[in-house]
Amino acid sequence: MNNEIVASLPFIEGRGGFFCRGCLGRNLFSGLDLGELPIANELLKSSEGSLEKFPLHLRVCSECGLGQVADVVTPERIFRDYRYLSSMSTTFLQHASDFVNQRVQEGVFSPGDWVLEIASNDGYLLKNFLPFGIMTIGVEPAENVAEISRGLGIHTISEFFSSRLAIELLTKYGYPKLIIANNVMAHVPDLIDFIKGLAILCGAETQISIENPSLANILIGMQFDTIYHEHYSYLSASAVATISKNNGLHLFKVDELSIHGGSNRYWLRSLSDSGLVDPSVGSVVKHERESGLFEASEWKHYSLKVFKILQDFRTWLSESTEKGLKIYGYGAAAKASTILNSINLEEGLITAIADASLEKQDRFMPPHGIKIISPQQLFTEKPTDVVIFPWNIKSEIANYLRANLGEGVRLWCAIPKMHQVEI
Ligand SMILES: [Zn+2]
Repeated sequence: MNNEIVASLPFIEGRGGFFCRGCLGRNLFSGLDLGELPIANELLKSSEGSLEKFPLHLRVCSECGLGQVADVVTPERIFRDYRYLSSMSTTFLQHASDFVNQRVQEGVFSPGDWVLEIASNDGYLLKNFLPFGIMTIGVEPAENVAEISRGLGIHTISEFFSSRLAIELLTKYGYPKLIIANNVMAHVPDLIDFIKGLAILCGAETQISIENPSLANILIGMQFDTIYHEHYSYLSASAVATISKNNGLHLFKVDELSIHGGSNRYWLRSLSDSGLVDPSVGSVVKHERESGLFEASEWKHYSLKVFKILQDFRTWLSESTEKGLKIYGYGAAAKASTILNSINLEEGLITAIADASLEKQDRFMPPHGIKIISPQQLFTEKPTDVVIFPWNIKSEIANYLRANLGEGVRLWCAIPKMHQVEI
């Protein structure tokens, strides 16, 4: 086995099988097996060559409802050269600024309070606290990204969050008023230690806000392209409720958000706090059960639908190319990698993929080196058809492409099934 895979699901020799990463339950069933794929955010430096592949098999715990991959690639391998910057999307920037303004308007902060953000990326969210004079600390393991955040004046610690780091922070700064952990729990190999860390830092007045795409939306909305090696776990409200409770925290509210194509914001507080639980918790958990999230047969049916979508996308690409259409992609994100590698895309079906990130331009996307170009180059090359891969911000991208390519260009999205994007 490749030494950069860590079988992070607890495995006990002789007793057979994996244990759930969240609740240590024994009953995991197959959700979707995508075979072996390269790591989604690893890009080729030339059009030749290939990338190492690793298994990508989603399993679901029938006890707590956590989705997870069993064989995970080490965080050091995945995040050593991280190329995703939150500030690349205006939708995310607005979302982050709205969140901060709302918290400040609620009047929860007093002088001396501080805010912790785990996976603070380039400071896209914490920078919004600066004008209010609220002290912030970011935890961001990717050194290249943390540096950008420091440039904005945000105190940023370049480490992976853990119970050990939580004790250090508590000793140095006391309990934070607010802990934000957006789109990070999916990336954590040792989920229980991460939650224990949150519990350590959760004082009587601390609230914890966790945003994460929901497993129910992967199932209902056919969002299987959000399954990639960076994501070890796929949260559901049911799983968050169970895992939190096991570790001294309490899920008291769930906000359903439209960002990322449907995320949940989970609000946690200390288990010893006996405040009211919002009805949203019960209703989201009920909806997850009714959607078949805990049922192996529902996921079997789901897998068949996924393979049909992939097949249809492949057929569309081949037929369009035969007709002489000039097809390009937009957004060399992980979603694109999951889809293109799952269909093992043949050479020549997509001419190039445009991406606004300078970090990605002039690199090549697997499976066989599709060149990543700048949006400006895309506009010069005048494609007839563009496939938008980050469907979660498709309107933002579609408006941008229309403004620069004119009305004639056709815009497409492959999720939840191949369709033309109308603005
Ligand atoms: Zn479980």
